[in-house]
Amino acid sequence: MDCIFCKIIKGEIPSTKVYEDEFVYAFEDINPEAPVHVIIVPKEHIESVKALTISHKNLIGHLHLIAAEIARDKNIDETGYRLVTNIGEDGGQSVHHLHYHLLGGRQLQWPPG
Ligand code: IMP
Repeated sequence: MDCIFCKIIKGEIPSTKVYEDEFVYAFEDINPEAPVHVIIVPKEHIESVKALTISHKNLIGHLHLIAAEIARDKNIDETGYRLVTNIGEDGGQSVHHLHYHLLGGRQLQWPPG
């Protein structure tokens, strides 16, 4: 499958690893939108939130806990941060492998536009 994030997970495309376990991989975004911009992905190829099933319930809970842990490690826990996932064309999703953006280190605007 021609998925850039699957290739990153397999090490076929280099990335700056932030975290890895059996289920989740996290790496620095190549085009950061904030001082902290980490991409957190499940190792399983899932297209987006809309492709989730009940079988993914524990995986998604786990991924959120990892996101909070990374935020603590990056020292943005006190100031706050954003955890966001884009879905489909109107959502601005460009890579069709479920991923969460962890953004922080500056005041983020809302709504994002
Ligand atoms: P999306 O627009 O929500 O799908 O986010 C995709 C994100 O992946 C963007 O923020 C890109 O900068 C990031 N990205 C794309 N290719 C790479 C890469 O090879 N390494 C790290 N981040 C990437």
